[in-house]
Amino acid sequence: MADTPSIVWFRQDLRLADQAAFAAAAADGPVVALYVLDDDAPGDWRIGGAQRWWLHHSLQSLGTSLAALGVPLVLRRGNAVEQVARVAAEVGAARVHCLSHYEPWWRDAEAALARQLDLVCHPGYLLIDPDAVRTGAGTQFRVFAPFWKALSAKMPPDRPRAVPGKVVGAPHPPEGDGLDSWTLLPDKPDWAGGFKDWQPGEDGAAAALHAFSDMVVTYKHDRNLPSTNGSSRLSPHLHMGEISPAAVWHAVADGDGAEPFLRELAWRDFTSNLIIQLPAYADTSGLLKMEALPWRTGPAADADFRAWTRGQTGYPIVDAGMRQLWHTGWMHNRVRMLTASFLIKHLLLDWRRGEAWFWDCLVDADYGNNSTNWQWVAGTGIDAAPFFRIMAPLSQSEKFEAAEYIRRWVPELRDLDDDVIHDPHQADAAPAGYPAPIIGHREARERALAAMRTVSALPSPS
Ligand code: FAD
Repeated sequence: MADTPSIVWFRQDLRLADQAAFAAAAADGPVVALYVLDDDAPGDWRIGGAQRWWLHHSLQSLGTSLAALGVPLVLRRGNAVEQVARVAAEVGAARVHCLSHYEPWWRDAEAALARQLDLVCHPGYLLIDPDAVRTGAGTQFRVFAPFWKALSAKMPPDRPRAVPGKVVGAPHPPEGDGLDSWTLLPDKPDWAGGFKDWQPGEDGAAAALHAFSDMVVTYKHDRNLPSTNGSSRLSPHLHMGEISPAAVWHAVADGDGAEPFLRELAWRDFTSNLIIQLPAYADTSGLLKMEALPWRTGPAADADFRAWTRGQTGYPIVDAGMRQLWHTGWMHNRVRMLTASFLIKHLLLDWRRGEAWFWDCLVDADYGNNSTNWQWVAGTGIDAAPFFRIMAPLSQSEKFEAAEYIRRWVPELRDLDDDVIHDPHQADAAPAGYPAPIIGHREARERALAAMRTVSALPSPS
């Protein structure tokens, strides 16, 4: 054990258990725990509004756990590379430990820091290091099905490690900011009242996993039903790294019906693999030809976008989803697909507008997951559903038994029976005040297909 301190640089890995960087720093000698809020390097993809709320509480929880071990959590704000290097110089750190992250700005920061100091990047954000899953030709995968086959052949991941037994704080930790000075929480207005059911932090993640472990057996069926609590709701915890994916894997893998869930869990790994290959995936279509889609713009398009964000489209399932998102910072996966498809195909609005809205509103906003899923729905991505596959929100609402979900999030429709609630206008049952459909399904479908035909007519870029 050395006397010089090591820094553990926390990012989207706000936990102490199964945190290889923290364990390695503790084994090195005295520990300085550092978190840097960098709002510049990610550009437009800086942490969004809802996730800032989550971050505040997650840092508070991590700070409390570290303090119990005698290690203060040092908070700094600014360019992450500069701040990490500055703190290293201030404390005379021999080494900096971190978990690897795959967002383009984090990869750049890791490369820049590695040129300046002894930076050790550990695995642990994903189930498996992206370099360890390759095609027969040695390249990274761009299609999920063979990726899953290759990944699952290398599972299970290593068993999660407990919090290190011996941790020593640095005798002279550097000064840091007070968390409240970052004003991560909304104030006027406080729109986070509906977030109260979440419990950010490592304990909250463990509790969510525990609650889900009994539900794995019904996951395959129930995950598709918006009215049922059928999925794990681990996404914000996983994004913030409050629990390791290995811990999640081992908690459920031996139970009946685990495979469909583990397959979804592996999507995180896949989207990280994609953004390593295509760092601008949140901004640029994977299929370059799709950049020519004639998206609607102008005042009418803007008004439609506003109606979509506010849950005022006249399509109950879409409105329920958009209101759930606004109130809770989360939306059911099936409804994410429907609302995204509605924006892109029914309203013919650029998928990037919806992606940015989700980014700001989701507590689980994740660069890889958000961009890959938006591009999947839009048909602009690699390994995406084709553009001409247009989801029918009214019949999907019925098929996936969304009546209770609609009643919860669109209270104007609370009194409608199951047989009319999915399409109240058709049955002439819509109450006064609930908007008429923003566009008819058939008309929207024809407009979207016509737009697609203009692209199909173009020669493919070589
Ligand atoms: P579960 O069904 O319990 O799945 C377990 C975990 O697997 C999730 O927590 C998540 O980490 C991962 N996972 C599941 N489905 C997917 C998927 N399709 N892609 C990637 N990972 C997945 N997920 C995010 O984490 N962040 C996002 O920003 C995000 N944006 C999305 C945008 C759109 C348009 C769509 C259609 C989906 C998006 N998803 C995103 C994927 C998915 O909707 C959420 O991961 C899921 O709803 C989270 O709920 P859960 O934790 O209960 O998931």
